[in-house]
Amino acid sequence: MKVSQRGLVEMNLDAQYKYVIIGNSAAGIGCVEGIRKVDKEGSIAVISEEKMHTYSRCLTSYYIAGVVDDEKILFRPKDYYAKKNVTPILGKKVVKILPEDNHIVLDDGTRIGYSSLMIATGASPVIYDIPGNNKPGVFVLRTYEDARRISEAAAPGKRAVVMGGGLVGLKAADALHAKGVEVWVIVTSPQIMSQTMDRDGAEILRKQLEENGIKVMTETNVEEIIGNKKVEAVRLSTGQTLTCDIVIFAKGVRPNIGLAKDAGIDTDYGILVDTHMRTSVPNIYAAGDVAEAKDFITGERYIHAIWPNAVEQGCIAGQNMAGRDVEYAGGIAMNSVDLFGLASIAVGFTRPRGKDHGYEIISRSIPEKKFYRKIVLKDGVIVGAICIGEVEAAGVFAGLIKRRANVSKIKELLLREDFDYAKVLGEGLIKDTSYFATA
Ligand SMILES: Cc1cc2nc3c(=O)[nH]c(=O)nc-3n(C[C@H](O)[C@H](O)[C@H](O)COP(=O)(O)OP(=O)(O)OC[C@H]3O[C@@H](n4cnc5c(N)ncnc54)[C@H](O)[C@@H]3O)c2cc1C
Repeated sequence: MKVSQRGLVEMNLDAQYKYVIIGNSAAGIGCVEGIRKVDKEGSIAVISEEKMHTYSRCLTSYYIAGVVDDEKILFRPKDYYAKKNVTPILGKKVVKILPEDNHIVLDDGTRIGYSSLMIATGASPVIYDIPGNNKPGVFVLRTYEDARRISEAAAPGKRAVVMGGGLVGLKAADALHAKGVEVWVIVTSPQIMSQTMDRDGAEILRKQLEENGIKVMTETNVEEIIGNKKVEAVRLSTGQTLTCDIVIFAKGVRPNIGLAKDAGIDTDYGILVDTHMRTSVPNIYAAGDVAEAKDFITGERYIHAIWPNAVEQGCIAGQNMAGRDVEYAGGIAMNSVDLFGLASIAVGFTRPRGKDHGYEIISRSIPEKKFYRKIVLKDGVIVGAICIGEVEAAGVFAGLIKRRANVSKIKELLLREDFDYAKVLGEGLIKDTSYFATA
């Protein structure tokens, strides 16, 4: 949208774009690409409080380990914004959204108007209120800058305590270990990866960490971070004190909903969106880790805070912002981590508990091969799967979940180490492919 200088002055704005996107990461870039599928010309501004060109957050731990550099971490090439005809406004924080006037305000006072707005502000790590949590040597791992700072602090002979045994905690632990740092992972729950992995799977992964020199303590909390001018030790709930130079908070994230909430947009844990990724304000959309969107399996709203979901949601929102009518089928969880060469993937709904009736669970474990597979079914349809060791099948399971395919007649095959959809069909193990037909 082109607005004359006079128009901008009359509206008391410094700039006006047809599309304004807050966030320069998975959902923000997904949104650019969704818009450009439909509208090649409309003006787009992408705003981020981070100065960095768009990069992959998933690779930040590999940056610490030194496996990925400043080039390889980029999500899109350096000429991306120019090629997509996008104005990047980087290193600026959005402090206000004014939906009634269709404009936003930056931290330097700049006012930018929009016809439609995308909120893709992601999430921020939670730092618990314990004594010493702001000492030098305490870190979180979310941004490129966080990774750079951790990388500078990490050196052979140093000792680190990672608080949290989820995806980010384990990736951080793995990266620090690769830099020659002695690492303890301290976990409140009885197991690592308690959000995504079942007990048996988590035990295999814990063993893998410990065999490779990372120490894991479950059912333990860090109660205090001790040190004069910087981190020197932590005091644990067991009464033990661990000497260390680095502490990483990896105890989960919280969606950055503040801007939306202050603007009167409906929020709960995240920003509430419909299946078009539209918020309660018709020309404002949200996507990614900040958005509570439809869950594929339950149909309820949920945040699956993973990269592919953020890109897909952003892309769907972008197309809708540009006038196409596209619906989001719903997200599924998909968490993968490779620990010292042992790959694991948990996809979909993997942990039915006592109160969740009507689920069937089949599983197989070959301890000497570190092979573990568990499939969760409901009425013959796969709703979740865990693969450790042989993970190639995880993509097939994800596909079957999305197609709601009834697999009742080939259930046992799903547990084979060499299970592969093409192979199963090719070897004639299944003659009637309608087993995979959409239910
Ligand atoms: C260490 C680590 C490893 C991960 N590994 C994986 C993995 O292996 N696989 C996987 O699927 N997922 C992984 N994830 C999760 C994945 O990175 C997130 O799901 C994804 O980044 C979400 O994208 P997003 O665009 O919604 O938000 P974010 O990536 O959080 O981006 C938010 C954007 O909004 C900007 N922003 C926020 N507030 C403002 C404001 N007020 N003004 C201006 N700009 C603002 C930020 O600067 C940023 O550009 C990992 C995450 C971390 C931290």
